[in-house]
Order: sequence, then structure tokens, then C-alpha cells
Amino acid sequence: MSNKDDIKDLNKYRPKETRTISCFMCDYEWKAVFNKGSKEIECPGCRAMRPLQTYGADIIGPFRGGYYFVTSYGYRLPNVRLYKRDDTDQDWTFELDARFEVDVSTIEVLRWASILGNAMAISAGYSCFGENSNPSNLYKTKMTNMATQKE
Ligand SMILES: [Zn+2]
Repeated sequence: MSNKDDIKDLNKYRPKETRTISCFMCDYEWKAVFNKGSKEIECPGCRAMRPLQTYGADIIGPFRGGYYFVTSYGYRLPNVRLYKRDDTDQDWTFELDARFEVDVSTIEVLRWASILGNAMAISAGYSCFGENSNPSNLYKTKMTNMATQKE
């Protein structure tokens, strides 16, 4: 028996979690079974890695013009828009202030949303991003996702 066989056997005994997951990119929905504590899973619809944790962030849209907004704990990141990409290996073009762009994965967007929101708010002279921001400002715009009907 090789070391590789030992690792395979351990994986069988790890606690599993089952969850219905909807892919941000291709809208494929499936009942996923994965090891507890996993951070990402491959989407059977588009074969890209999808996050299992949201880090308190959400991607909301599309809006007229084809862009999406990013929220962190329910508050919209100001001056940020996402555009879906299907011509590169990245999921999104992340646009800041309609001037600066970078191509990123969904996982990167979700992981960095809170840090980016706080960095912008603090740099602009506010205490923090979102709910406890003082004084009230554009870094405190609450937003929730509207349910979309499946066809
Ligand atoms: Zn997908």
C-alpha cells in the first residue's frame, strides 16, 4: 500500500456536507456533496471552481448595461462594477470608478469585498465600511438581491 492509498482512505471518512449550489456564472444549480470545511467546488455546468463560502459578500445583477454590483454584508461597494467574462479564464472584469480594471475570479471578488470596502471608506475619512460607518456616507448603501424567476 502506497502513501497515496492512505490519503484516499482518509478522505472517505471526512465529514460531508450537502448543499444546493447555484453557479454565479452559468446559473447551473446542483445538489453538491463535499468535505466539511471545503472552500471551493467545481461547477458541473461550466467546470470552473466556485466558492462554498461567501465571505459575507454577494454579486447582484445583471443591471441594464450588463454590469453587476458587489455587496459586503449587505452594503454595496461604491464605484465598483463587475462585467461577466466568457472570453478569458477569469469570471469577471472588476471595474473601479469606470477607469481601473482587473480580470478576477468569483472567489477573488468575494474574498476581497470586505477589505476593499473598508479600504475605500477608511481612505475617504470614515470609520469603516457598512453598518457601523460614521458619519453616514456613500460607503453605507444597503442593497439586497432580488429573487429571479427560473424559466
Ligand atoms: Zn457554472
